[in-house]
Amino acid sequence: MAILVVGSVAFDSIETPSGTAERCLAGAATYFSLAASYFTDVRVIAVVGEDFTANEEEVLKRRGVDTRGIEHVAGKSFFWRGSYMQNLNEAQTKETQLNVFETFSPTIPAEYADSEFLFLANIDPVLQEKVRQQMPRVRMVCGDTMNYWINDHRANLEKVLHGLDCLLINDGEAKLLAQDANLVRAAKKILASGPKALVVKHGEYGATAFFSDRLFPGEAKSVSLPFRAPALPLSEVVDPTGAGDCFAGGFFGYLASQKEITPSTFKQAMFYGGVMGSFAVERFCTERLQSLTREEIDQRFALFRELSHLD
Ligand code: AMP
Repeated sequence: MAILVVGSVAFDSIETPSGTAERCLAGAATYFSLAASYFTDVRVIAVVGEDFTANEEEVLKRRGVDTRGIEHVAGKSFFWRGSYMQNLNEAQTKETQLNVFETFSPTIPAEYADSEFLFLANIDPVLQEKVRQQMPRVRMVCGDTMNYWINDHRANLEKVLHGLDCLLINDGEAKLLAQDANLVRAAKKILASGPKALVVKHGEYGATAFFSDRLFPGEAKSVSLPFRAPALPLSEVVDPTGAGDCFAGGFFGYLASQKEITPSTFKQAMFYGGVMGSFAVERFCTERLQSLTREEIDQRFALFRELSHLD
């Protein structure tokens, strides 16, 4: 099963208590693709500038990611500068340059048309919606966003929410989106605005899924109790950037690799999300995601089980 992902392919400059990284390959779609590539086929839609060379593309290709949907144009790639010096759980955005994304109009290559799963990674909701419109028959659509789009592009974002099966955002974003400081009430409001499920990421504390009463394909009965998956306590978080995108990649990659989407596979997917997020933060940028093995992933999955198992 193939996942089609649209989102930022970017260069980031990052500052954390562990050090700094300058203009490293990053972006929501990059993190997502690398994480999901350990579970299923991934196809990317994005735009890059002249600073994105064959070396950067090779990072994705080495993981088997299909990059034919990455458009190369004159100009500079998306650039983001972030700092975690105040709080490792929340990035402080120092600079966002949309660059080539400002004039991007995504088109889906014919080779991508049969993708069954669609992930709308963090990018301008107008672009997310353009891709969604071109893929009306996908089996499942998940999406992400961030405060940047919630604050200033709310009307466009609301259109995207209508078309989602599952929204994955962090808890600060969920409260901001719903304009409610209580997470349970915020989740109810968000679920009333479109998505059938909402996965709220709590950084180093795990993630919680909330479900609406509507059914997923193949689901016998609706699940309405929330479900919480843990995160792995780590002795050092080198760079939290991309943990959320890697959570989404592990979560959706695992779901796409399963025959059916059921409450049980959904819960397992939450654990795989946590596993991929925990790897992401161990090194700067995408470094740790580039050379994992499925064995390492499954060993860590076993650790997650132990962490939350009750006899
Ligand atoms: P995460 O830490 O999982 O929320 O995602 C971090 C990635 O999102 C970084 O690699 C950035 O390049 C990218 N990013 C930051 N701001 C934006 C934005 N406004 N739109 C799209 N991508 C962004």
